[in-house]
Parts: sequence; C-alpha cells; structure tokens
Amino acid sequence: MTNSELFDSLDADSYYIEGADIADTKAPQVPIETRWEERRFRARLVNPANRRKLDVIIVGTGLAGSSAAATLGEAGYNVTCFCYQDSPRRAHSIAAQGGINAAKNYRNDGDSIYRLFYDTVKGGDFRARESNVYRLAEVSVEIIDQCVAQGVPFAREYGGLLDNRSFGGVQVSRTFYARGQTGQQLLIGAYQAVERQIAAGTVEMHTRHEMLELIVVDGRARGVVIRDMVTGAIETHFADAVVLATGGYGNVFFLSTNAMGCNVTATWRAYRKGAYFANPCFTQIHPTCIPVSGDYQSKLTLMSESLRNDGRIWVPKSGEDKRDPRKIPEEDRDYYLERIYPSFGNLVPRDIASRAAKNVCDEGRGVGPGGLGVYLDFADAIERLGRQTVEAKYGNLFNMYAQITGEDPYQVPMRIYPAVHYTMGGLWVDYDLEASIPGLYVTGEANFSDHGANRLGASALMQGLADGYFVLPNTINDYLAAGPFPDIDASHPAVVEAVEAVRARIDKLLSVDGSRTVDSFHRELGRLMWDYCGMERSEEGLRKALTRIRELKKEFWSDVRVLGTNEELNQALERAGRVADFFELGELMCIDALVRRESCGGHFRVESQTPDGEALRDDEEFAYVSAWEFAGEGKRPILHKEPLLYEYVEMKQRSYK
Ligand SMILES: Cc1cc2nc3c(=O)[nH]c(=O)nc-3n(C[C@H](O)[C@H](O)[C@H](O)COP(=O)(O)OP(=O)(O)OC[C@H]3O[C@@H](n4cnc5c(N)ncnc54)[C@H](O)[C@@H]3O)c2cc1C
Repeated sequence: MTNSELFDSLDADSYYIEGADIADTKAPQVPIETRWEERRFRARLVNPANRRKLDVIIVGTGLAGSSAAATLGEAGYNVTCFCYQDSPRRAHSIAAQGGINAAKNYRNDGDSIYRLFYDTVKGGDFRARESNVYRLAEVSVEIIDQCVAQGVPFAREYGGLLDNRSFGGVQVSRTFYARGQTGQQLLIGAYQAVERQIAAGTVEMHTRHEMLELIVVDGRARGVVIRDMVTGAIETHFADAVVLATGGYGNVFFLSTNAMGCNVTATWRAYRKGAYFANPCFTQIHPTCIPVSGDYQSKLTLMSESLRNDGRIWVPKSGEDKRDPRKIPEEDRDYYLERIYPSFGNLVPRDIASRAAKNVCDEGRGVGPGGLGVYLDFADAIERLGRQTVEAKYGNLFNMYAQITGEDPYQVPMRIYPAVHYTMGGLWVDYDLEASIPGLYVTGEANFSDHGANRLGASALMQGLADGYFVLPNTINDYLAAGPFPDIDASHPAVVEAVEAVRARIDKLLSVDGSRTVDSFHRELGRLMWDYCGMERSEEGLRKALTRIRELKKEFWSDVRVLGTNEELNQALERAGRVADFFELGELMCIDALVRRESCGGHFRVESQTPDGEALRDDEEFAYVSAWEFAGEGKRPILHKEPLLYEYVEMKQRSYK
C-alpha cells in the first residue's frame, strides 16, 4: 500500500475536516537575500509623534517578550506587559544554558549567513519556511552586537574576541555563550532594557498576572482578560495590537526540562478565538537530560548540548556487561554516534542523537536504573585538556549533575537520556509574525515559525531575540499605521462574553469538588503523550491515546479536586486551568501526529520507515505546515495546509554520516 493509499484509509472524518490551503502573503517575491530589506522598506511607518497614541499589549517577559517590550517602548509606543512570575526576570528563558547562534564567522571556519540558513532548513528536516529561516540567519549577527552593547558577558578567548563553540547538526563553531548560563545573561540584558523603559514610562509591567482569554473585536485582537494571581481579580486590558510571547507547551508531557509553570493557556485561548495552531505534534526531545529517577518526579533536568563538544557518548557493546563504566575497556564500548555518523560524531542534531539513544536502550544496552540511560564521558577530555579547562567550560553543569545524582562526573561518566525539551509547533504566523487574527502577533517559542520538525541547538534564543529586537518592531508598525482603532470598554459584548467565559471556567473548576488532584491527571496525560505521541508514533497508538485522552478529560471535569477559592493565591486553581487546556492541546497534537504519516525530525512514524528501519520522510504528501483552525466546542478541527516550497535548499533525505 502506498503512503497516499494509507492516508486515504485514515478514518479522517472522525477526527478532523480538511479546509482550504493557506499561504504566507507577506514575504516579498524577490530574491531571498533582499526579502527582509524589501519588506522593511514596504512596511508602513508610524511617525514618532503618533506612536504615543498607540497601545500594545505584550504577554510574556522571556527573551521574546522582554526584547519586544524594550524595543517598542524605546520606539515610543505605550506598552503594557504581563507575566505570571513575580519578576519578568524569572521567565523560563533564564534556564537556557548552552548558547546562542550567530553567523559571525569569527572562527574563520567557513560560516556565513547562507550556511546558517542552510543548516537550519536541513536541521529542521525541510519542514520550515525558507523566507523566515533566511531572515533569522541574517538578523543573527545583529543580535550579538546588540547584546554586547548591553553588556552581556559572553565568553571571550585569549585574544579578546568572543569565543564560540559548536552545537549539534553543524560543522562550524558559531555558538556564543556565557558559561552554562547564556539564557540568564541574555535575559538580564533584555530585562534591564525593559526596566529602563519602565522608568521612562513607556512600559507598564504587571507581574503575577495570568492571561486567560483573548479579546477579539470586529475580527481584530484588541485585548486580554487577565487574572491577578494574588487577589483573584479578573481584569480587562485593551490595546491596538496584542503580542503573545508566552513560550512553549512541552509541559503537556508532564515531565520535561521546561520550568514548572510553562503552559499553553495564552496561545490555546487565542486558538479557540480563531488563531491557527501550526504543527502541534512537532516536539523536540533533547538527548542529554538526566534520566528519570522515580515515579514521583515532576521535573527533568537538561545537561546542556554544549557538553557534546567534549563529552563522548557510549554504551557497553553487550547488554550483559554490568561492570562499573570505568572498568569497561575501550574494546568493549560502543561509541555508537561516532560509529554510525563519523562526520558529525557526537554532534549530530538532537533528533538523530535522541533516536539513536532510544535504539541502543531498546536493544537492551542502556545503562543505569531501568536501562534507560547512556554514558556521556569526559575522561578523554579531562586527559586532553586538563580538569581545570573542563571545569572552566562546564563547571556549573557538572556541579548541577553532581547535586542531582550524587555522582561525581569528573570521576564517573554522566548518565543521560532523551527528554521533552522544546516545542517547534505553536501559533501559525506569517512573515510579519502576525497570526491569522489581525492585530495578534506571536514571537519566540510561542509561534511555529522557524524550526520545522527539529530545532538545532542554540537557535531558540536566537529566534526569540530576532523576533523581539528586530523583526516585530519592523512589521507591527505596518499594522499599527492604520490605528488607533476605535475605543472599546468593558461593556462591549465581546468583552463581556470573554470575561464571563473566564469566570464560568474558574467557578466550574472550583465547584467540581472531586477526588483526584490536578497533578494526578496531568501525570496520566503526560504519560499518554510520551508513550504514544513522543519519539515514536503509530496509527494504533495514536488512536488509543485519543480515546483515552477524551475519557480522561471527561473524568477531569467531573472528578478533579481544586481546593481554596478564587480570591486568593491559589496554585491548584492556576494549575487546573492550565491542565484543562493541556487536555485539549494533547488531543490536537495526537490528531496532527495521526495525519502526518511520515517520519520527520525526531518523530518516528512506524508506518514510515526504510527497509532497514531508518526514518522515512515523505515529501510528496507532507511537505506542508499543518495549520489547525478551531471549529467550535465539540466540533472537529479544520486542517489548512501551507505548502512548503524549497527554492534555495535542495530537498533531500538528511545525512550526517
Ligand atoms: C533547560 C533549558 C535549556 C535551554 N537552553 C537553550 C540554549 O542554550 N540555547 C537556546 O537557543 N535555547 C535553549 N533553550 C530553549 C529556550 O530557552 C526557550 O525556547 C526560550 O527561552 C523561550 O523564550 P520565550 O521568550 O519564547 O518564552 P519564555 O522564556 O518561556 O517566556 C514566556 C513568558 O510568558 C509568560 N506567560 C506565559 N503564559 C502566560 C499567561 N497565560 N499569562 C501571562 N504570562 C504568561 C511567562 O510568565 C514568561 O514571562 C533551553 C530550554 C530549556 C528548557
């Protein structure tokens, strides 16, 4: 049976409806090298005196949100910003460890904008839009200059130039870093730029405020409904445009490397109001995380990909070999990445490294409790470079590992295993970063735009900052030039409806008074997602997951126990709302995965493999972005396809051998 026949045999009607194809109409039809320049030139401008009459709401203060708030504030717009943490500086971006890419070619090793573009399109397994990726590579060089000017303390080499290291999927060194704390240093840079605008009166910051609904008036995004997380007050805020910079949704899997608060609520609410959700099933599984250690764990810890620059990954050749790793001689070890992929070795992209780790564990050669682990060994690096150098490069990561596992990685190889880390899917946006609702812009991990089916390491920070410092400030003015839009207030029917919906949901969650905790539901949902919509997927498994998710969702709404009231700090209530949205998202992810009957990125579809068991992408059928439209409560979602055209990078099966 061909893929296309299999596709037809899907019981499609029971899960979704197919709608009309869509296209990005904002990228100018000029050669790719001049596309961004042309777009900036064609975009309408807003004169500085008029900017102060225009209001912009930004939800999120991670790298994508803070950089946008600082830049739009500096430009003179009135910006109101929200985050759910107690400080904008606690956004999840602060956790980023390894680095940020830029095509500066400081190492003179053959890097260029074109090579970064090429690596990213190929790394994304040909499921990203060429125009966006080229612009990202172009803007990458400006980000480093901007951050250096802000005082971000990037690592330097002896000669004084900024230092670089390599990340997976590339053969050049283009990753800028600040030890193992790159996200933290970049966020402090963006945060102090926002603070400056707060002092100048252009940015108003609301911490501990959670967006629970988008307000759409006359087809335009015009505001948000927010819950004050300390008092429970439900507030409305209005603007001429709304920007969502609310991060990724990896926590749908319960266990992930994301901060505990990361959630999908803001983008999910926007989806339900008409914004298309793109490629929801594209999740990144990171190969170097500390393995799960017990049933009651609620968080996984990433060991930065930068460790693969010097650490060597291996398992014993025989599954029977249970010796202390230090006692296993070279001839009994399998450095499987170096063996299978000699040209990239330990620096293959994340999806390839994750799948290879899963394969050796499935063969029974995994190490540590439950056999779900592989070694990441620094013995060679310590011998070659000396402990002091290794400590200077990776010291904080080694300390973190030692504290969590009680083992000393300078003496014993680390144990690592793949874990959920990042979500390439997100709200669909065009070249301007505008969603399918006019006036709604989406930046950073919250949008789907640049990474296709697999994100290369050190490129999320690059994208968030590109979006916030450079792209959005040059595109949103094209929309705002038509403003200010007519005033609205709390009595507008669309606002009343949005507020009532929020109140009704909170009341419902508090009134169920069932017997199961929110976390127990979340854990069960996460397990289903990991087992059936994680690294390996099959038609049978996805259908099973869909049935169980629907049942579980019903159980949640009839048996969840949320204590306390709305009018207080109530973390159970906050979590309940987020988990309720994760149920709906999880369902859409499984439908998206079911439809995408191909293996691409880290997503292995068992029905789509080569005779020797390798992942098989299907460009004939699936070279598109899937953009899902909400059709109404209880109705099947509508799939719009955005065909992907590759004019500059030849589409072929990836090889890192
Ligand atoms: C452990 C770890 C290490 C990483 N290391 C790297 C790395 O080295 N290099 C790299 O390129 N990438 C790395 N990444 C990925 C990268 O950190 C993230 O993709 C990126 O920081 C996301 O930034 P963001 O601004 O889009 O979102 P976030 O930083 O997640 O910020 C989201 C913001 O939205 C707010 N928010 C969310 N929902 C709501 C709501 N409903 N109401 C109000 N506010 C809301 C939050 O309060 C927060 O301010 C790493 C990720 C992890 C998990």
